[in-house]
Amino acid sequence: MNATFAHPVPTSAPARAVIERVETALIDLPTIRPHKLSVATMNGQTLMLVRVLCSDGVVGIGEGTTIGGLAYGGESPESMKLAVDTYFAPLMVGQDATAVRALMLRIGKMVKDNRFAKSAVETALLDAQGKRLGQPVSELLGGRLRSRLPVAWTLASGDTAKDIAEAEKMLELRRHRIFKLKIGARTPAADVAHVATIKRALGDRGAVRVDVNMAWSETEAAYGMAALADAGCELVEQPVATAAGLARLVRRFPVALMADESLQGPESAFEIARHAGADVFAIKIEQSGGLFQAQRVAAIADAAGIGLYGGTMLEGAVGTIASAQLFSTFVNLQWGTELFGPLLLTEEILATPLTYADFELTVPAGPGLGIALDEDRVDFFTRGRPRKTTSVAV
Ligand SMILES: [Mg+2]
Repeated sequence: MNATFAHPVPTSAPARAVIERVETALIDLPTIRPHKLSVATMNGQTLMLVRVLCSDGVVGIGEGTTIGGLAYGGESPESMKLAVDTYFAPLMVGQDATAVRALMLRIGKMVKDNRFAKSAVETALLDAQGKRLGQPVSELLGGRLRSRLPVAWTLASGDTAKDIAEAEKMLELRRHRIFKLKIGARTPAADVAHVATIKRALGDRGAVRVDVNMAWSETEAAYGMAALADAGCELVEQPVATAAGLARLVRRFPVALMADESLQGPESAFEIARHAGADVFAIKIEQSGGLFQAQRVAAIADAAGIGLYGGTMLEGAVGTIASAQLFSTFVNLQWGTELFGPLLLTEEILATPLTYADFELTVPAGPGLGIALDEDRVDFFTRGRPRKTTSVAV
């Protein structure tokens, strides 16, 4: 008998909460403007929502989301749904819903990779367990150290003047004062000119960082990072594709270098740290393979003296708050977060919207994730559902 995960249950223990059903849905939501990245232009976002229904009546929700279908990585919302429906759900139904880590280990043994789908499922299990215990997810992860998180905004309209106007609006609203520019689709010289113009316009009122999304060769990156440092850019995210390439670029220029796409869970984090291959890690719960694995990535960064930045896969509210719950527990979060995903969507899917004010996001304090879906709106935007319409008297 494999006793590794066996744990004695006292006979007087209350009835276990057992997982009865796992449901998934694809939610298609429009974005406020086209979001141009070097890998894709997004005009909408698809959220893969997971609901875990338990025998004690508790329902946990989780989200799996990525950028531009399959343009960013190996998982798409559709493939996550298929993986959860076909492979995760049979491993979960009938299992103890309160033993979240043990269940994720069980899933991990039977399902390789599929990090985004694992993150969605783990989020739903933690949400359910938090609701059950009356505790926010942050408390299940060791305890909250901050209740508000700084949030950067991404300027990605593809047009310099529009980006400046958008940044000015965000400063005026006191919503964001850290701006990340998506570059890499044009020539490095054109991109550097774009960044320099925006930084000149904002001056000391706004910090400027760039994300190249792996678009540059190492030669382009060497030119680009030097020129970006001169332009007043403070951080360059994943200019080249490989971890080895990052390691050859780090600390050659007076600008911080951040790993994002290269970070695919604790083992990759360890490899980058071992080669001193980044100044900063963009930690993402989905890229890491869930909240527990992202915690391990953060621990590696801390031990290696690598700074932390709370990253996003442009998740909607559920994935954003799952990330926020985790990031609120980090001892170090030197570079803030980019948890602005819900603000990029035109539609609110929560019963009570999130609070973004004074350049920060408030981490909800209620049990579980601390958020509730507006089920009617979620239903309306669910792919394949007949749209409910209201008849208008004429
Ligand atoms: Mg990135």
